[in-house]
Amino acid sequence: MSWKDNLIKIEPYVAGEQPNKTDFIKMNANENPYPPSPEAIKAINNFDGANLKKYPSANAVELVKTIAEYHGLKPENVFAGNGTDDVLSLCFRAFFNSKKPILFPDITYSFNTVWCEILGIPYEQIRVDADFNINPEDYKRANGGVVIANPNAPTSIGRDLDFLRIILDNNRNCVVIVDEAYVDFGGITAIPLLEEYDNLVITRTFSKSRSMAGMRIGYAMGSKDAIAAIYAAKDSVNSYPVDSVAQKAGIASIKDEKYFRETIARVIKTRENLTEKMREMGFKIPDSSTNFIFASHEKYTAKEIFEYLKSRDIYVRWFNKPRIDNYLRISIGTDEETEALLNALKEYIK
Ligand SMILES: *Cc1c(COP(=O)(O)O)cnc(C)c1O
Repeated sequence: MSWKDNLIKIEPYVAGEQPNKTDFIKMNANENPYPPSPEAIKAINNFDGANLKKYPSANAVELVKTIAEYHGLKPENVFAGNGTDDVLSLCFRAFFNSKKPILFPDITYSFNTVWCEILGIPYEQIRVDADFNINPEDYKRANGGVVIANPNAPTSIGRDLDFLRIILDNNRNCVVIVDEAYVDFGGITAIPLLEEYDNLVITRTFSKSRSMAGMRIGYAMGSKDAIAAIYAAKDSVNSYPVDSVAQKAGIASIKDEKYFRETIARVIKTRENLTEKMREMGFKIPDSSTNFIFASHEKYTAKEIFEYLKSRDIYVRWFNKPRIDNYLRISIGTDEETEALLNALKEYIK
């Protein structure tokens, strides 16, 4: 017997590599290639450090109010946390306390299994079809909850409200979480469905479309009762999640709609160009509703392309996992970075 027998036994989520050098192209973590809104940067620069002696607003009141107004909701319908990962883990604690398994696709955000394992939540992963499409009818079975990323990751595929309605109509007695981390890049938001389904909870992040991955802001939207349950879960582990600087910067970002729209439009334009050029090279790529593409090539394995690109200081994401191990997930960079990627690929793929 050793103290080590009692250590946590879990396979943690592995994030995209953060190489310890500066001169490389990073397309492996779905970060935004453009900086946050200048207004957000100004808010950070103008922050009086002396104020850090005080705890932040415990429930990020002003930030929540700003987010709620932005989406046409009430503050009681919004919860803000330290990035969506924090919000989702609180949601899992708050909502998934049934003995029945929660359901999510076999190909989706891989943090789901990590939280289930660590929190002891039973789960069932439902197979997506050969083209990575989620069949909504599959989510019609006894369960303790449902989690759908829409658009899904790492497949990049976005679905419409009819798809979500099928899942919601078959799951009136559990919480359905829709993770909208990528929705701003061309997905369809479930926000209009919040009025009809009080068991629907939508999560969003500032990390991708708002270029603030380093700041850690995420939020959930849902009925008053659902949001209250997330607060209860939060206050049982950490009453002060979003720090004072992040609250100010988050508010400033939300208020700069023009910059937000422009940045997204740039990313989408680059994505469409990259998709077209890579398809011409023989890559198979589903239409993306996100800030990344999911690509495979019939003649070259994803692993060899991944290794080759890395040797050229271009980092993309390759998941050594069943069903997707011949795919690369490539985050959309600047036009210049995309050009470099295309040039490198052209040299390799003859
Ligand atoms: C990036 C991502 C998140 C988490 O974002 P945070 O940086 O923790 O806010 C959640 N879900 C999906 C599907 C993501 O890709």
